[in-house]
Amino acid sequence: MTKTNNTCNTCISDLTRRDFLKVAGAVAGGLTATGALTNSALASSGGGDIPLEDQKAMLYDATYCVGCRECELACKEDNQLKEEDVDDLSGHTFTLIKLYQSEDGSEESFRKYQCMHCVEPACVISCPVGALEKTANGPVLYESLKCIGCRYCMQACPYGVPAYDWSEAYPLIAKCDLCYDRQDGTACALACSPGALISGTRGELLEIAKERIAANPGKYHEDRVFGEHDGGGTSFLILSGVAFENIGLPPLTEESIPEQGHTATKAVPYIFGGAAGLMALAYRATMSSEERAQIQEEYSKEEGETA
Ligand code: SF4
Ligand code: SF4
Ligand code: SF4
Repeated sequence: MTKTNNTCNTCISDLTRRDFLKVAGAVAGGLTATGALTNSALASSGGGDIPLEDQKAMLYDATYCVGCRECELACKEDNQLKEEDVDDLSGHTFTLIKLYQSEDGSEESFRKYQCMHCVEPACVISCPVGALEKTANGPVLYESLKCIGCRYCMQACPYGVPAYDWSEAYPLIAKCDLCYDRQDGTACALACSPGALISGTRGELLEIAKERIAANPGKYHEDRVFGEHDGGGTSFLILSGVAFENIGLPPLTEESIPEQGHTATKAVPYIFGGAAGLMALAYRATMSSEERAQIQEEYSKEEGETA
């Protein structure tokens, strides 16, 4: 999959009328997202070509994090995102550092929020038009040209990651792409001088994490790495000195989210069943050929610039 600008908003879709009818028919007919749509999304997934241990990943050790937020700034610069004061991930904020403090003040920890780049991503499974893809090297990418704005992915993600860029007339999804185009690591990890963030392969990062656990008995919660197996595994791995749930990580079994039939994934077909949703789909699917050609031209130009 070719990386596109996450915040690109002029790019609507090369969705065909047949695609639209397929989606509209699925919604109107009450097909479940874990049925026919799931299977087509799975078939389009590009993950799995490179051994999991060799795929691109990041380790975040919350016990090393000092809350300096240099990672946030580096991400903004690298992705040309505007400054904003927000409490959550958004169309212009792909990563955020938050501070957890217990009520009695005895415990505190920072947590870096961003896409977890799941091994079997619920967002990919839930997208009816293949606008999200698990790439062979690990990152989960978003393709704005294919997106129809249905927001299934937002409902399906157990970590609440995909954000809508509401500042635009036709908002599309935005999220971290694990610095897919960079060969030298991720911008946020390169900016982290305390060493809380490290980029590398999943295998070597798990090794580092386990060495830290072994060298510091009792320091890390449950002496384990969040994301090694949780929800089927992630490429963003987390070490924490406090309980994972205290820093907002969901309690997940080792089964992948789609296998677990996560409640959000189950709810997906009902989210977009209203008339407004169908109208939005119709709008995006019935653009004039001139509008479509213009978008394709802009997209080609953008691709040429990033090649
Ligand atoms: S964290 Fe959410 S958005 Fe990121 S890959 Fe997993 S399901 Fe998709
Ligand atoms: S990996 Fe890249 S896109 Fe993701 S949070 Fe870090 S700098 Fe931002
Ligand atoms: S740059 Fe590193 S230490 Fe600073 S807030 Fe980000 S993760 Fe924490």
